[in-house]
Amino acid sequence: MKLFEDKFGRKFPYLRLSVTDVCNFRCEYCLPNGYQKSSSCFLSTSEIINLLNAFSELGTEKVRLTGGEPTVRKDLTIISKAISTNTNIKTIALTSNGYNLYQKAEEFFDSGINALNVSVDSLNPEKFKKITGQDKLEHILKGIEQARKAGFKKVKINTVLLKDINDNELPEILNWIKNEDLSIRFIELMRTGDNVEYFKKHHLSSEIIKSELESLGFIPSLRKQDAGPAQEFEHAEYKGKIGIIAPYSKDFCKTCNRLRVTSKGDLRLCLFGGEGYSLRPLLQNENQIEELKNKILELLHFKHETHYLQQGYTGLTQNLASLGG
Ligand code: SAM
Ligand code: SF4
Repeated sequence: MKLFEDKFGRKFPYLRLSVTDVCNFRCEYCLPNGYQKSSSCFLSTSEIINLLNAFSELGTEKVRLTGGEPTVRKDLTIISKAISTNTNIKTIALTSNGYNLYQKAEEFFDSGINALNVSVDSLNPEKFKKITGQDKLEHILKGIEQARKAGFKKVKINTVLLKDINDNELPEILNWIKNEDLSIRFIELMRTGDNVEYFKKHHLSSEIIKSELESLGFIPSLRKQDAGPAQEFEHAEYKGKIGIIAPYSKDFCKTCNRLRVTSKGDLRLCLFGGEGYSLRPLLQNENQIEELKNKILELLHFKHETHYLQQGYTGLTQNLASLGG
């Protein structure tokens, strides 16, 4: 099947779907005051299936379930089971803060989730607690172990790079991946509507990590043609890999391969776009699939070539919990 593309020739094999805005953490750069209750209800399983069937007919093969914290949704495994049995989506990925992994890793795996990203911003328990508001580092590391035992072959770890907080932790991280087949991704802190002061204080270019890795003999991994924005580095003496996600770098948007849908059914063409387009009225009945596909193709026409973060424009995104990061 020919994969749909935008007017700049970018293809979209990958959809990020937020299933809830709710979160049980208070990450300083995301929800420093915790989740504030909102009134709307989140997409139901049947709305999600109608959405994914349309995307899948357009050629999308991978969905990432995210949030907020997706694992706080009680019916998460009902959703993932429904996706694996009622759609042609091949990869069901989950991005989680790891809080519920220790208890539920097996249930997640058995429900059809087959790729896992866990956020770990520091390997120092005190710093972890300061960043996330939760004294749970050890519990989360145990959860990652549990996930691998349950069958998740490759676990990716997301680490937001924070100046003067975790920017000196590369040695500990390298120690971790020496004998473990993990992929740790340093994500540059992104400015959002809510975190302007924090961003000014803690944003750091990932070039620093890149030069440290190169000086240690790490080399860039070969990039697949449809690879997303992470640049990975590898080393013969390390089992794991280090990835870098640098949204402020030149050409970052050229490799954009994803669209996003919020937990209330708005299509977002860019993490930092100024528009959300409600697809919800077209998710109510499976007979609306042709209309829904046409709507998605029509809206894709409005996707810009790049974001305007360098100019300080963060679009609608007040925090990434509202859109799934
Ligand atoms: N709650 C889940 C988690 O933390 O993994 C999923 C949602 S969270 C919004 C997805 C990813 O976005 C996490 O890895 C998080 O650290 C990252 N993130 C959140 N806000 C960010 C920001 N302002 N800049 C860079 N990454 C951010
Ligand atoms: Fe919650 Fe994830 Fe945001 Fe942290 S980054 S507050 S875990 S949504």
